[in-house]
Amino acid sequence: MGNIFLAKSAGFCFGVERAVKMVSDQIENRTSMDERIYTYGPIIHNDTVVSDFEKRGAHVISEEDMATVENGTVVIRSHGVTKQTIDDLEACGHKIVDATCPFVKKIHKIVAKYSEDGYKILIIGNEKHPEVQGIIGWIKPGTEYIVIGNEEDAESLHFSKGEKVCLVSQTTFNHNKFQELVEIINEKGYDMFAMSTICNATELRQKEAAEIAAQVDVMLVIGDKNSSNSRKLFEICSNKCDNTFFIQTADDLDLSVLQSIHNIGITAGASTPQKIIEEVQKKCQQKILNKC
Ligand code: SF4
Repeated sequence: MGNIFLAKSAGFCFGVERAVKMVSDQIENRTSMDERIYTYGPIIHNDTVVSDFEKRGAHVISEEDMATVENGTVVIRSHGVTKQTIDDLEACGHKIVDATCPFVKKIHKIVAKYSEDGYKILIIGNEKHPEVQGIIGWIKPGTEYIVIGNEEDAESLHFSKGEKVCLVSQTTFNHNKFQELVEIINEKGYDMFAMSTICNATELRQKEAAEIAAQVDVMLVIGDKNSSNSRKLFEICSNKCDNTFFIQTADDLDLSVLQSIHNIGITAGASTPQKIIEEVQKKCQQKILNKC
């Protein structure tokens, strides 16, 4: 008889749950169907959730169409946006409901304060990720900043010795990798203010996923293909378990990989709805029962 180990931390984190609820509340509390509700970009990296909201009347808008759509309420997603974006949306006549995760908001405040105080800003993360783009947008204009993501980048940092440098991280960055990069940067002799702004939800999810992956025959990571935290979970689990699979829904689960398998581990990224996790779990359970 096989066992299924479902990570307790699988699925929506606090920030995503909060943002999704804020969109739902806007939809449910509108007094007339004429009131327009938008999300600035997809509210989370999950196609199912986004299309469900579309059907209920919350439409995704972007920088390109913010000025052309009818005025309405715009919910800012948990990743956050730049200060300029908020100003632009307001200038277009939209009302803002800010669902930026408080942990991301904290980074905005840190980079705003330290850049104001003359620090250069160093962000550990992926420059292309919307969260990092949002963080950059809260740095005082004219401040020198750099985004680094690997050891090479850290080695080649060019700030002068003794320079005031404020270091923060993207909330979903890998904890161990962050420590390694900080060790390299510490050798550079900067006057540094460093704060790990990796959020606990991510850390906990990564740690639990690694623990489960180390003791199972097959590890399933459920997440949207566009979700960076899900892809990181896949990377971490793959290092512990050779049979790690990345799936978006239960339909992607190839049951033949569960043949002669005893222990199955399941985890899911921060933007994976509970319903999808349950469907995958059910499919695995059925497979195990059929084998008995
Ligand atoms: Fe907030 Fe952490 Fe979730 Fe990001 S992963 S939305 S920082 S709770």
